[in-house]
Amino acid sequence: MSEQKQRILVVIQHTNSACLTNNFPVLTAASQFAEHAGACSIDVLIIGHQVQGVVESLSTVDGISRLLVVDETDFEHWLSDAVATQIAPLAEQYSHLLTAASTTGKDLFPRVAALLDVGQLSDITSVVSYDTVIRPIYAGNALAKVQSSDRIKVITVRESAFDTFTSQGSNCAERVDISPLSMNTYCEFVSQEVTKSERPELGAARVVISGGRGVGSQENFALIEQLADKLGGAIGASRAAVDAGYVSNDMQVGQTGKIVAPDLYIAVGISGAIQHVAGMKESKVIVAINSDPEAPIFDIADYGLVGDLFTILPELLAELD
Ligand SMILES: Cc1cc2nc3c(=O)[nH]c(=O)nc-3n(C[C@H](O)[C@H](O)[C@H](O)COP(=O)(O)OP(=O)(O)OC[C@H]3O[C@@H](n4cnc5c(N)ncnc54)[C@H](O)[C@@H]3O)c2cc1C
Repeated sequence: MSEQKQRILVVIQHTNSACLTNNFPVLTAASQFAEHAGACSIDVLIIGHQVQGVVESLSTVDGISRLLVVDETDFEHWLSDAVATQIAPLAEQYSHLLTAASTTGKDLFPRVAALLDVGQLSDITSVVSYDTVIRPIYAGNALAKVQSSDRIKVITVRESAFDTFTSQGSNCAERVDISPLSMNTYCEFVSQEVTKSERPELGAARVVISGGRGVGSQENFALIEQLADKLGGAIGASRAAVDAGYVSNDMQVGQTGKIVAPDLYIAVGISGAIQHVAGMKESKVIVAINSDPEAPIFDIADYGLVGDLFTILPELLAELD
């Protein structure tokens, strides 16, 4: 093992008022690196504006040594290039830098890695040792074991591959306020449109109902919504359904969408292209509803219903009543 002291920094993703659930699998990965590295501390970095709620929710989480806080009006809305310039100098004191491989993480960390002049370990699914990880390649068709010799390991973590961090909540982490560096960005915040939904977040949902091109229209997605509401699930979609405008693109599951691993995944009118399967094949139970008995989705489904979704879904909804 390297002589350098091992220190881990987790960059927290949040809404300014609340910590996102995707940070907790990252803390699990961080604790695994810490175990491999022997004596090792885990700090978290919170950059935002009026982040007191986030700080409070993390200060009692076991295993966190320090909460580094950059609270500044300019960070009310994250602009990745500006946030990356804040992170890079702080990262110099650490051996590992982690965040969730969400859209935010994928936008932010390559910039941080470039500023630090190191490579990035992207979307890791397993920790082998303090410098070696497993990550999927070729849309999840192969797993690569990657060893990094970089002085700072910049890592994004696949949320669905790690258990959420369990804590007794008995900690009392030290808060350290950090003055922001001068903002150096060519980007300007214009506006943000947030989709509000009563349903669980797609990445963290226990049940996901996804619709594909077979659903046929935006209106027909009401059937998927009804099923999701009855099962308390989130709604997903194939890229074909998104491209056709049936649903918004934040619902896309797959290689270029969200990676999910719920207890139950119901694929309705989805053929099972490898790019879609890459985003949901780790689901515990997979149910496929498709009129084509040869559809590849049946190769990975635990339960397959061959038939017309417009017959099967109303029957299923009636049974659930
Ligand atoms: C680089 C790249 C990245 C990609 N990333 C993604 C990604 O992240 N996510 C993703 O999903 N795709 C992705 N794709 C696209 C992917 O290759 C497929 O084109 C897409 O997943 C197909 O979506 P689908 O299964 O809904 O449509 P189709 O393949 O057209 O399948 C529709 C299915 O519905 C069934 N069906 C039709 N009518 C009915 C009915 N009435 N009842 C029951 N079943 C019915 C049909 O039998 C068929 O199997 C990507 C492609 C590329 C090249």
